[in-house]
Formats: sequence, C-alpha cells, structure tokens
Amino acid sequence: MTHFSERVEQVSISGIREVFEAAGEDAINLGLGQPDFSAPTHAREAAAEAIREGLADGYTENKGLTSLREAIADKHARDQGLDVDPGDVIATAGGSEALHIALEAHVDAGDEVIIPDPGFVSYDALTRLTGGTPVPVPLRDDLTIDPDAIEAAITDDTAAFVVNSPGNPTGAVSPPEDVREFARIADEHDVLCISDEVYEYTVFDGEFRSPLEFADSDNVVVVNSASKLYSMTGWRLGWVVSSTRRIERMLRVHQYAQACAAAPSQFAAEAALTGPQDQVGEMTESFERRRDIVVDGLTDIGLDVPTPGGAFYCMPEVPEGFVDECLDRGVIVVPGEAFGEHGKGYARLSYATDEDSLHEALDVMGEAYDAVV
Ligand code: PLP
Repeated sequence: MTHFSERVEQVSISGIREVFEAAGEDAINLGLGQPDFSAPTHAREAAAEAIREGLADGYTENKGLTSLREAIADKHARDQGLDVDPGDVIATAGGSEALHIALEAHVDAGDEVIIPDPGFVSYDALTRLTGGTPVPVPLRDDLTIDPDAIEAAITDDTAAFVVNSPGNPTGAVSPPEDVREFARIADEHDVLCISDEVYEYTVFDGEFRSPLEFADSDNVVVVNSASKLYSMTGWRLGWVVSSTRRIERMLRVHQYAQACAAAPSQFAAEAALTGPQDQVGEMTESFERRRDIVVDGLTDIGLDVPTPGGAFYCMPEVPEGFVDECLDRGVIVVPGEAFGEHGKGYARLSYATDEDSLHEALDVMGEAYDAVV
C-alpha cells in the first residue's frame, strides 16, 4: 500500500508558485523573491577557475571548504565584530538547508516553534516536517517582529523561535533594542533563537544587528546565505553559525542529507565574501530607490503601507479582491495569507524588478484598486 509520511501530508506546495502559474506570460512579476542582479563577476570567475582546474570535482569536507568557512568567520568579524571559529560554521545548500538543519537538530515531535506571522513560508513548513508545531505570532502594526509576543508565546514545549530582520514578506527591520530582546529571551528562557539574516546587507533605514552579538548563552543559530547578500540565489550556498555543540548536531543532519554544499558554489561564495564589496552597495542603493518609487506610488493610490527599512519587499494593506484584480490585469503580487493567517488583508510586493516595470505595475495597481473599492 502506498504510504506517505503524515508530516509531509501536512505541507503543501508553496502558494506563491500557484500565483505565478495562474498569471499570463507577459505579466509584470512583483512576486519573485530574488534580486535582479548577476552574481559578482569575481565570484563567477572563481567558480569557473575552480572547475577548469579540477578543484571542484570531489566532495569537500562535510562542513565546507576551510577557506570558505574562514571567509564566513571573517565576514562576521568585519560586519559585527564577532569572534566566530571557522569550525563553528557549516556551509549549506542555501539558507533553506540552513533553516532545515537548524530545526531538524533542535526540534522533536510535539515541540513548538514560534514563528512570525506573516513570515517566510519555510518556517511553518520546515517546522511541520520535523514533527514540530508552528506557533505563529502576529507582528506589530509597523510589521516588525514583536519580542513581547514571542515571550508571551513561550511554553514548556517551546524548542525555538525564529526571527528574521530585514524580514520577508514585510521588509521590516528590527531596531537594535528588539534584537537585544531576542537575545535576552533566548538567554532567560533557555530557548533557541534561530536568526534568519539572509537580507542582512539590504538595509536602508535603521541598522542590521544580530542576536548573536548580544546573547550570553549559546542559544542562537545564525542562518545566512549568498543568495540575497550577493544575488546568488541559483548557486545554493548558505551557512549556519552557532556554538560547537549545536554545529555538531546540525552537522549530523547535513552530513547524511547533503554530504556537502556544491563545491563550485563554495568557491564562488568564498570569492564573493573576500572580494570587492562594491556590488553590495550598488544593489542596496538601487533597491532603496525602487522602495521609494513603490511606497510613494502605493500611497498615491490610497493604500496604507508601512515603509520597509530593508530587503526588497513591501506589504500594503489591500482591499478584498485587489490581488486577483491585479493578476487579471497582468501584475503578479502575492496574497498576504500565503505567509500566514495574519497576512490576510495584505499583499506582498517584491520590487526587485526594473523601474519602468515598477511604474507600469503601479499604474495597473491604481486601476485595480479603483475597480475593487
Ligand atoms: N530566509 C528568507 C527570509 C528568505 O526570504 C529566503 C528566500 O527567499 C530564504 C531564507 C532562503 O534563501 P536561500 O535561497 O538561500 O535558500
């Protein structure tokens, strides 16, 4: 008899893809969660060189190339003044695998994982795949993650809470005092804080801080990735940073499920991390310009939208029927409920697309708004 795991039966294919498939080919896609830049040239060259020289043909160490893990440790020293041992890093197949091994290593069936709602779709799905129970907590009105809501949701069954700043789907950046709170909660309640930092470099207002800077215990796992930092989504290269004992547990999962991250991508990510960082600044400036176009445009239409401080998303409150009306008129936006129950009444827009398309999309969204109100 065919048998499917009950855990897998609880998870469905992401609603975002369904929206793309329903739209016409000429649609302007404000649904995609990836930067519209190429990977840095020096990263592509480093991978090409490694391939030409036959350096990327074999497995690497399970944790990843020592030189890559040193580059990741140096990154954390450079950006946050943190003293990370390269031994306490695992290179993963993107931030996605990083989240997976963090949850798999720390969550048992029946454990609870507190996640932001609306929040990145994988938090709920990966928690369910571990057998854990997602406990969604609503965001504040400005769409930042609320440390008080996290603390109030902690029970004896809580294994972890996930924070994500700058955030997907909101673009919200947690102020330093909240990040300090995340660390305090992890320390005081002795629960794990999984800090998803994949949008770290895309901050326009405020500043990026990591709970790893503030925590006194080892109750933090940092998840990061070259995907959004360097516009390298297709390279599938991310990492986790934590304490030796937590890394050792996560390695047990990674070792059997993945063996190692793809070797060419490890060479590319190392070059991205150690080479010139100019592209990071160019991308951030460009996203900030586009953020302003979109927020001003949506406000002119009459929509309420908290100004996102980072990433390349915004989340306006939208009237009923707006998302479908946009789709019918050729603009793809993602309904907020794809990111959790509290996302209902919102839409997520990604502005990682060219400015002409954004202006065109705003015109269409204006018409869609007029048609539904
Ligand atoms: N975390 C967040 C908040 C994301 O938005 C994404 C991708 O959209 C990821 C993690 C996964 O990124 P990666 O492409 O590195 O797997």
